[in-house]
Amino acid sequence: MIGHDPRMHELPVEERCVTVVVAAWNEAAALPLLHPRVQAALAAAEADGLAARVLYVDDGSSDGTWEVLQGLQAQDARVALLRLSRNFGKEAALTAGLDHVTRGAAFIVDADGQDPPELLPAFLAKWREGYDDIHGTRTGRDGEGWLKRASAHLFYRVIGRLSRTPVPRDTGDYRLLSPRALAALRTLRERHRFMKGLFGWVGFRRAAIPYRRGPRVAGASKFDLWKLWNFALEGITSFSTAPLRVATYLGLATALLAFAYAAWVVVKALLWGDRVAGWPSLMAVILLLGGVQLIALGLIGEYLGRLYEEAKQRPLYLVEDWRPPAGVCLPQSPATQGESHAHGTATAGGQVP
Ligand code: UDP
Ligand code: MG
Repeated sequence: MIGHDPRMHELPVEERCVTVVVAAWNEAAALPLLHPRVQAALAAAEADGLAARVLYVDDGSSDGTWEVLQGLQAQDARVALLRLSRNFGKEAALTAGLDHVTRGAAFIVDADGQDPPELLPAFLAKWREGYDDIHGTRTGRDGEGWLKRASAHLFYRVIGRLSRTPVPRDTGDYRLLSPRALAALRTLRERHRFMKGLFGWVGFRRAAIPYRRGPRVAGASKFDLWKLWNFALEGITSFSTAPLRVATYLGLATALLAFAYAAWVVVKALLWGDRVAGWPSLMAVILLLGGVQLIALGLIGEYLGRLYEEAKQRPLYLVEDWRPPAGVCLPQSPATQGESHAHGTATAGGQVP
């Protein structure tokens, strides 16, 4: 198949590898349902002439996920397992997984079966065409409430407006990253990780694959509305300073209004005398100014807090256990403990372990 299509270019030998990366937190019920589907996808990749592996990252689960994963590895030598020392959150778990893919491409899917592993061949075909960041774009979301759909819809539009980094709409973490995109991503070690934005920041050649997002196969979503709200704040403050500018404009506008009003008060007192009226307007002004100042202060605090987190330079995650698969694709020892990486690999593609 390779070589017949003029658009397809032959992948270098050391890149002929794909690793399915799955972050899982308390997914003991969903993983046994997902794994056969992943296995079928691996078989399809192998039929395409690639070495294929799957890397499950246990993000500090407490429900027997690790035992389930060990069972999966015992039956299939293509399974790699990584266990973090505690729950670090999906973004850190994904980072840990991607850090360990030092060769070939990475294909990210959720553990709950919402991102179909079956589409891997379509993603691989795009990779062979020379694309680096092939992302699945949702044409619909089944089994998710209107509130989640509506808030997600709004979020992608707001961040699209505010941020100069392209964040494609209705696109999650479901994607295939080429070796050079992965190497570039590995150089971004910020603590507050908004992965969708980081993927967008990396750039290179991007392609979208439309798909329908199905419902979860088992278990419950790990993201309630409060977590999603914080996630949205994270995304906006990590990829845009527009809120700070809004605070500036708000301050300017109130200052102008206040000056005009002050001038009016003085003129009024000069012309008609002052009979100590206006307590309500005084209160209104004080309250308004107080509110505006607090909002601006809170905004500055958001950014300052992020600066503080970055200044501490903690690793992004800690590895408790690394169980590499047989053979190629993934390194035999843990790649890092989530600290900063040796740089300079951004253009070279993944290093060969
Ligand atoms: N996840 C994780 N760590 C967390 C939260 C979630 O690794 O702290 C994983 C989870 O196991 C799943 C994926 O992230 O594989 C997406 O989570 P979920 O399905 O709950 O999110 P939703 O699809 O509802 O947005
Ligand atoms: Mg889900």
